[in-house]
Amino acid sequence: MNDCLFCKIVAGKIPSNKVYEDEKVIAFTDINPQAPVHILIIPKKHIASVADTSELDMDIYARIMSVGKRLAEEFGLKGGYRLVTNIGKDGGQAVDHLHFHLLGGRTMGWPPG
Ligand code: AMP
Ligand code: ZN
Repeated sequence: MNDCLFCKIVAGKIPSNKVYEDEKVIAFTDINPQAPVHILIIPKKHIASVADTSELDMDIYARIMSVGKRLAEEFGLKGGYRLVTNIGKDGGQAVDHLHFHLLGGRTMGWPPG
């Protein structure tokens, strides 16, 4: 996807503060952090959102959860954390490339805004 911001980050055309990479996903710090730890975990492959995921790509979610757990340990989020994805306009999604937010280092509120 030529015009996708996160595809450009995957390709290294836009710089990011990468904290994890494997053959399927990368993770980097959010440019506008909403918590002391705010990391985005994304598939290297362009998938617009959960709503656009094919059955064949479901393994990506297992990988993202596993990377989220690992990063939460690495970043010392012992008290808990939030691992969430926004879907579509009403879900608050601004970048149309699937991403999970790993948020931690403070107490989260509920319900989210
Ligand atoms: P969402 O609203 O769920 O689509 O989240 C998009 C997230 O991407 C926001 O938290 C932004 O701060 C973050 N973001 C946008 N551009 C960049 C960038 N170049 N590097 C890192 N994070 C970004
Ligand atoms: Zn993309």
